[in-house]
Amino acid sequence: MTNTTRRVERLVVGGGIGGLAAALALARQGLDVHVIEQAQEFAEIGAGVQLAPNALRTLDRLGVLEPVLDGAVKPPSAVLMNAVTGERITSLGFGRGFQHTYAQPYIVTHRSDLLDAILAACVEEPAITLEVGRKAVVLAETAQGVLVTCADGSSYEAGALIGADGLWSAVRAYTVDDGAPAYVGDVAYRGTIPIEAASDRVGRDDMTWWIGPGVHLIQYPVRGGRLFNQVAVFAADRSGDPAGWGAPAELDKAFAGVSDHVAAGVRSISRDRRWVLRDRLPVPTWTRGRATLLGDAAHPMPQYLAQGACQALEDAVVLADALAAHGSDVEAAFAAYEAERVPRTARLQVWARRMGEIVHADGVTAMLRDALLAQCDPADLPQTDYLYGYEPRLSGVRAG
Ligand SMILES: Cc1cc2nc3c(=O)[nH]c(=O)nc-3n(C[C@H](O)[C@H](O)[C@H](O)COP(=O)(O)OP(=O)(O)OC[C@H]3O[C@@H](n4cnc5c(N)ncnc54)[C@H](O)[C@@H]3O)c2cc1C
Repeated sequence: MTNTTRRVERLVVGGGIGGLAAALALARQGLDVHVIEQAQEFAEIGAGVQLAPNALRTLDRLGVLEPVLDGAVKPPSAVLMNAVTGERITSLGFGRGFQHTYAQPYIVTHRSDLLDAILAACVEEPAITLEVGRKAVVLAETAQGVLVTCADGSSYEAGALIGADGLWSAVRAYTVDDGAPAYVGDVAYRGTIPIEAASDRVGRDDMTWWIGPGVHLIQYPVRGGRLFNQVAVFAADRSGDPAGWGAPAELDKAFAGVSDHVAAGVRSISRDRRWVLRDRLPVPTWTRGRATLLGDAAHPMPQYLAQGACQALEDAVVLADALAAHGSDVEAAFAAYEAERVPRTARLQVWARRMGEIVHADGVTAMLRDALLAQCDPADLPQTDYLYGYEPRLSGVRAG
């Protein structure tokens, strides 16, 4: 350890939704924590995010539910539409029955609004210190914890290290060391437009999923209904270098056969940036000694269940419960955290992949899917209980 190495009891690497939520959860338990973020500021991309009741329960425990709800929209329902025929397949109501069952609504919001609400609470917490412009690059075990060296030469020795550094996690390379994440095979374009620019063909209040062979488009309002968020996803032609997959011409080609409303929506999405989607299959442990993972670093999943950020939030509060319950025994705390979180997130990682196949189905499979879904009662919720009914607490431990 060099004499410039800073000793911290708990270090979070990555200041995205998961990392900042973890810091806040730890501080709410009375535990000091330092956060390092590689970017020059804590920021999210200009797009929306769906937050289900399980995420809202964690935000409530973190004390930031109110500011998050302030800018959010509560869509009356999620509507599933056939992207080719333009016909309605089914819907899931988010009204009184849903909110009674899960004690929270389903909301959609702007990612920046979510991150800013968590960041503002972190800034108010004396137990949290935050640093930007620090990219963790090398990790090594020490007698008292883990030594993290950053790209600028700064270093930290942490008694407990939490890798919340996303899909390309440097901490995961140290704890699990299982190489690069896998290609899902899909490419996404996303962003917001002014609500007035959105077609009101199916209403602008609901969250609408348009699904078709190898494509889907998700639309919903954010920021109090002033912006309209859209996510267009399609199965990319996977020949050649992945960096070139899903160029704008391919987006247009993939959505060529869709109904007018969907085509208009896709045309209005910015082509400046695209996401080649990746995930991982579950692993039995995310931990090595005094280092563990959360969020996308631990269990990246395709977006088909809209649960990646929700799971990062759940991880955050359960991890803080575990560290608070086990005192200085960090390894026991991480074992308790994993016992609670690995099985649930593993199931969702696999489920999300299957959902992708169902959503993008073609031919007879798509016809059968639509026919079966059309018989669903919009108020019938057993399919969503596992996702939305989860209480994010460490088993057997009373949260503070
Ligand atoms: C198209 C799409 C739509 C989605 N929609 C939803 C949705 O509706 N609902 C939902 O719940 N989820 C959704 N997700 C998933 C969700 O976006 C992610 O699961 C979530 O953002 C993960 O948060 P995180 O904090 O774990 O990781 P990230 O958001 O990736 O944050 C990681 C942070 O760590 C920093 N970092 C990285 N490496 C280092 C390093 N070496 N040192 C220091 N800092 C580092 C990064 O700069 C970043 O700030 C969607 C994903 C996609 C792709």
